[in-house]
Amino acid sequence: MTKDFVCIACPESCRLRVNGGGGCVSVEGNRCKRGYEHGVSEYARPMRMLTSTVAVSGGILRRLPVIADGGIPKDKIWECLNVLYKIRVKAPVTIGGVIVENILNTGVNIVASRSMNAVKI
Ligand code: SF4
Repeated sequence: MTKDFVCIACPESCRLRVNGGGGCVSVEGNRCKRGYEHGVSEYARPMRMLTSTVAVSGGILRRLPVIADGGIPKDKIWECLNVLYKIRVKAPVTIGGVIVENILNTGVNIVASRSMNAVKI
């Protein structure tokens, strides 16, 4: 089977054509090794980085930015976002603090991408 992708590993946006079958995968159109690896990954199991926000109680802002500490299968992104939409954390939060451990059994943690102080009363 042949699939076409746009490489998103850098801003050059090369057009990749990935041919698979018989246990072999070949990539055309890539200009570098990163493009080859991206093509193989997109063909076999597309992964995406996830960034979002979660609600915060008692913080100086109402939302806390969060990021996945690894790639998440593309077909689980919306499910992961639905988990994050239901979460509310309590300030203070430290950057890098784990907000969701092993989200949806992906082996990936969702961590705070900034610190959030509590509101001083
Ligand atoms: S193949 Fe290489 S040069 Fe082309 S977009 Fe991908 S990373 Fe960039």
